[in-house]
Amino acid sequence: MSTISPPRPGPEAPAGDRSTAVEEIPVLGEGFVRLDDAMADDRSVVNSARVSFGVRKDVLDDADRGLIRFLLRERHGTPFEHNAFRFHVRCPIFVAREWMRHRQGSFNELSGRYAEIPDSFYVPAAEDVRTQVGKPGAYRFEPVDAERAERTRAAIEESYRAAYAAYRRMLDDGVAREVARTVLPVGINTEFYWTLNARSLMNFLSLRNAETAQREIRRYAEAVEQLFATRMPLTHAAFVDGGRIAP
Ligand SMILES: Cc1cc2nc3c(=O)[nH]c(=O)nc-3n(C[C@H](O)[C@H](O)[C@H](O)COP(=O)(O)OP(=O)(O)OC[C@H]3O[C@@H](n4cnc5c(N)ncnc54)[C@H](O)[C@@H]3O)c2cc1C
Repeated sequence: MSTISPPRPGPEAPAGDRSTAVEEIPVLGEGFVRLDDAMADDRSVVNSARVSFGVRKDVLDDADRGLIRFLLRERHGTPFEHNAFRFHVRCPIFVAREWMRHRQGSFNELSGRYAEIPDSFYVPAAEDVRTQVGKPGAYRFEPVDAERAERTRAAIEESYRAAYAAYRRMLDDGVAREVARTVLPVGINTEFYWTLNARSLMNFLSLRNAETAQREIRRYAEAVEQLFATRMPLTHAAFVDGGRIAP
C-alpha cells in the first residue's frame, strides 16, 4: 500500500550547488523525504566493476544491465558504493529512532538543545489506527472500527496538546530548552540529513520497505525508494527482481 505522490521538483538549488533541482515527497501529514542532492547513477556501478578489466563506458547497453543483475545476484557489493544520496527528512521521533539504527550512513539532526521544537505532530489517519493480533514475531495488524479510530486520534491529539503546552510554559518561564524538551512525545516531528551509498540504501529498503516493518517508517522507505529508482533505475530494477536482497 502506498499513499505517496510522485516526486515534485523543489526550489532551484543555490548557485554553486551541483544539484539542478531537489525532489520532495510528502509523507505522513507534515513529514517529507527530500532528495537534497545525489551523485548517483548506474554507470558508476558498471565502470567500477569493469575497471577490473581496464574498461570504461559512457553509454550503457544490455550487457551492462546484465552485469548489474549479476553483481547483485552474486552479492558483489562494492561497485554499489561509488555514489552518494543526501536526503533531508522530517518524521516523527519514533520513526527517526528506527531509522538511525542504520549505521551505514551519516546523520545530522535538529537539536532540541539549540532550537525550539516546532509544534508539528503525527496523528495517524483513521485507517492507520490498528489493533495487533498474534504472537511476537508474527503479529498481524488489523483495522479498528471508525469509533475506536476517532477515540484514539482524539486521545493522541489531546496528549500532544497538553505536552506541548507544558513545554511552552517551561520555555516562557525561562527553563532551558534541553530541560523543557523532556516532556515532548515521540510523535513530535524532527528533521535530519542522511547521506549514504546505494549498497546501504538497499539494505535499508530491504528491511524498512517490507511487510515486517512498522507502517510509518515503511511509508518513508517507499518515498526513499521512489527517489532511489529515479537516479539508479537499472540497479533498482535488479534489486526488485532479485527479491529485494541487498548485496
Ligand atoms: C522489522 C524490524 C524489527 C526490529 N526490531 C528490533 C528490536 O526489537 N530491537 C532492536 O534493538 N532492534 C530492532 N531492529 C533494528 C535492527 O536490529 C537493526 O539495528 C536495523 O535494522 C539496522 O540494520 P543493519 O544493522 O543491517 O543496518 P546498518 O547498521 O546500516 O548496517 C548495514 C550492514 O553493515 C554491516 N554492519 C554494520 N555494522 C556492523 C557491525 N558492528 N558488525 C558487523 N557488521 C556490521 C551488516 O552487514 C549490516 O547489515 C529491528 C529492525 C527491523 C527491520
